[in-house]
Amino acid sequence: MRYVLVTGGSRGIGRAICVSLSKEGFHIIINYNSNSTEAEATLAMVRENGGSGEIMQFDVSSQDAVEKALGDWQAGNEGKYIHVLVNNAGIRKDALLMWMKNQEWSDVLNTNLNSFLYITRFLLKDMLVNKWGRIINIVSLSGIKGLPGQANYSAAKGGVIAATKALAQEIAKKNVTVNAVAPGFIRSDMTKDLDEAQLKAMIPMGRFGKPEEVASVVRFLASEEASYITGSVINVNGGLYT
Ligand code: NDP
Repeated sequence: MRYVLVTGGSRGIGRAICVSLSKEGFHIIINYNSNSTEAEATLAMVRENGGSGEIMQFDVSSQDAVEKALGDWQAGNEGKYIHVLVNNAGIRKDALLMWMKNQEWSDVLNTNLNSFLYITRFLLKDMLVNKWGRIINIVSLSGIKGLPGQANYSAAKGGVIAATKALAQEIAKKNVTVNAVAPGFIRSDMTKDLDEAQLKAMIPMGRFGKPEEVASVVRFLASEEASYITGSVINVNGGLYT
């Protein structure tokens, strides 16, 4: 049995990743922050697919909360370790830089970038000792090309992309891969306030993506088949120029 932690597994892309990986036989640890009803719904979907899972609440932006939750899991699961980490939890707080508040900057950096450090650092040791692991970071088109109104989010996602490439080289010899998946516009709660009709005109495929279309790439990167891919960023964006 291999264990996977999906941060932000309660909704959207994270939920699709949980369901997809459960079909591959992974035990799914579903993290969420505040929406326990949706986390329960994801767990029910995992079980409907014949999979197994559990829920783990913590705020990814809090180092103390991360280390407490993961430390408790380790203490209760002696001899086991988390083989696959999907750093998916994320938020947006868009504003033009000229008007951006410190809080909007730091909330987005803490949730999208600092969480990568807290969680990955904690789980990395077991992957290295066992010489098998997969770290998959959900980044964004915004972190590659930058998007106006998202200087905070672009900085955070761009930071995760650079960290992905650096860490991949640090640990490649230990059979632990580190990759990023960069969605474009995907239908979820995060994008429900966007003008889809207007935005899809600039997407070559002429539509927003589905969470499942991101999840299938994550499923591949988590598999044995992806064993020689590390330090990569895979775009899932319907052909948007990056
Ligand atoms: P949603 O807003 O639909 O879901 C966000 C998820 O993240 C929820 O499960 C939420 O938990 C969780 N979350 C948010 N903050 C925290 C926190 N502090 N601690 C723990 N969990 C947290 O987003 P998407 O599914 O659309 O996005 C998933 C990832 O994909 C994000 O990293 C996002 O930046 C990225 N992305 C999305 C794109 C899109 O078009 N949708 C495009 C490019 C990238 P809870 O339910 O408890 O609130």
